Amino acid sequence: MRFYRPLRAIKAITFDLDDTLYDNSPVIRKTTDESHAALQSYHPALREFTMLDYQILRDELLSREPDIYHDVSEWRRRSVELALLNVGLSTQEATAGSEEIMSVFHHWRSQVEIPEETHRTLQALVKKVPLVAITNGNARPEKLGISDYFQFTFRAGPHGRAKPYKDMYYLAAQMLSIVPEYILHVGDDLRTDVAGAVCCGMQACWINLRGDNLMHIDEARLLPHVEISRLLSLTLLL
Ligand SMILES: [Mg+2]
Repeated sequence: MRFYRPLRAIKAITFDLDDTLYDNSPVIRKTTDESHAALQSYHPALREFTMLDYQILRDELLSREPDIYHDVSEWRRRSVELALLNVGLSTQEATAGSEEIMSVFHHWRSQVEIPEETHRTLQALVKKVPLVAITNGNARPEKLGISDYFQFTFRAGPHGRAKPYKDMYYLAAQMLSIVPEYILHVGDDLRTDVAGAVCCGMQACWINLRGDNLMHIDEARLLPHVEISRLLSLTLLL
């Protein structure tokens, strides 16, 4: 554990989900493959549809509707819908198809293995302070078996713009009725989690699971208050 700024009292903790509470990379790879396969088999004209084709549709949507960036699930669904429209499905059929493929996506997206250490840490912390989940992604705590730890779950899109924007950080402070100075945000991303939280006046904890050196990372613009290399260390802060 390393300290870079003096810590104040911690009256609540907000958590990033992906790559903070669990390793997200294996599940996201599998999820992407499975939902792409579902799209390819949905219509004969999409059998040869590649990931690159999909990426081009995503980019096209983003340039037309930049705000879609903040809602990754809707961005994905609309890209799938566009692929289905492009092969001649009606609007209604394309919408229904996109929803079906998104249910495949969410099924695989929820096959996350939550480490025992995460459960142990959250169990210990929740006895002391309220916990909140704040995610830019599309993981659903209720499907991962961790929703009971959180008083609130905020997701970019439905609950505001993606981190590092302040929307969800301020929403957390407001819903908890705790000023940002007494909230600690924990996350793996130096830009969205650390800089985002610090700019809101929160305290920030960077979880450095890969043994990186903060001083040698280009995107490290703002120092966190504290750096940890394993989640369980948080229990020492309260
Ligand atoms: Mg993360």
